[in-house]
Amino acid sequence: MAMDVKSLTEALAWRLELFWDRLERLRTALVVVNYHRLYARAPDTPFDPTVYGGISLDYFRRQLRWLRDNARILSEEELLDCLARRRAFPRRAVALTFDDGYRDNYDLAFPALRERGMPAFFFIPTGPLLDRRLGWWDIVAYLVRRSPVPVLELEGVRHRLDGPSARQACINILQERYKTLPEAKTRHLTASLAEKLETAFPPAALQDAELMTVEHLREMTGAGMAVGAHTHSHRVLATLAPQEQRRELVEGKRLLEEQLGRPVRSLAYPVGRRDSFGEETKRMAREAGYSMAFSLYSGCNRPGSLDPMDIRRSAKRRPFDAFTASILYPGRVLRAAR
Ligand SMILES: [Zn+2]
Repeated sequence: MAMDVKSLTEALAWRLELFWDRLERLRTALVVVNYHRLYARAPDTPFDPTVYGGISLDYFRRQLRWLRDNARILSEEELLDCLARRRAFPRRAVALTFDDGYRDNYDLAFPALRERGMPAFFFIPTGPLLDRRLGWWDIVAYLVRRSPVPVLELEGVRHRLDGPSARQACINILQERYKTLPEAKTRHLTASLAEKLETAFPPAALQDAELMTVEHLREMTGAGMAVGAHTHSHRVLATLAPQEQRRELVEGKRLLEEQLGRPVRSLAYPVGRRDSFGEETKRMAREAGYSMAFSLYSGCNRPGSLDPMDIRRSAKRRPFDAFTASILYPGRVLRAAR
């Protein structure tokens, strides 16, 4: 026999894969890419370096060049229109989003987007914006990285701080507490950390310099960028009592609208994991007047099954080939976390 069973099976599997790839290219999907910070030369910050996600300005520009020729970048208006009319997305629909309001978004990302006429979303927590203070994750990272103390003792557990990787491991543990414990348990965590770590909070000017201002955001919305809400304090909504969740959702929207003089229709849940918000949160977000809300546990969005209050986003840094594959074959590359 010219072809044995094994090679026949392999040939069939290969044909089937080609067929699925072709089908995947034809199915419409919305892929939402998320970024936090960009760096020009090297990620250099006294705060949390993990929010750069390994994305340099050069790499971002390379992605934009490819997207311009191979995808359709949707504005907030276009995306809302697709959702409202339950219309299929255009082929290879992509939305670009940035969270947390870092200054490099204005300095680096905005010019790169504007020169190509590409819209993006910027999700801004109003507490940091108006009080000019960085969020808890950056404060935790700053304190742990600068501390002269060799061991941090917290609730009977000793965290050794000898060397950068031990410090990063400690930062991860502390940040995880903020993401999962009820708010009452972490309310005074940064103050008690500053004391135990014998380190002062970062100076106001240092924090201020890391964040975009209201003027930056006004200029960006004037140039076609969308500004969305990211709550007021950036506390994880699921860790808050319902009335606190509502206040965060309502205040974040109201303050942004007041500052920008335009309606705020989109929301991104802080942290955005499956356990960061619940059905109650989604209902309250709808009641607060949001038309759509974004999560951050990966996955792609199909027109038939999309939940406007849980639009999937992916923040993972991928090598360039994997990035383009995530747009061309989103169903295969982008898996939602459990
Ligand atoms: Zn955030």
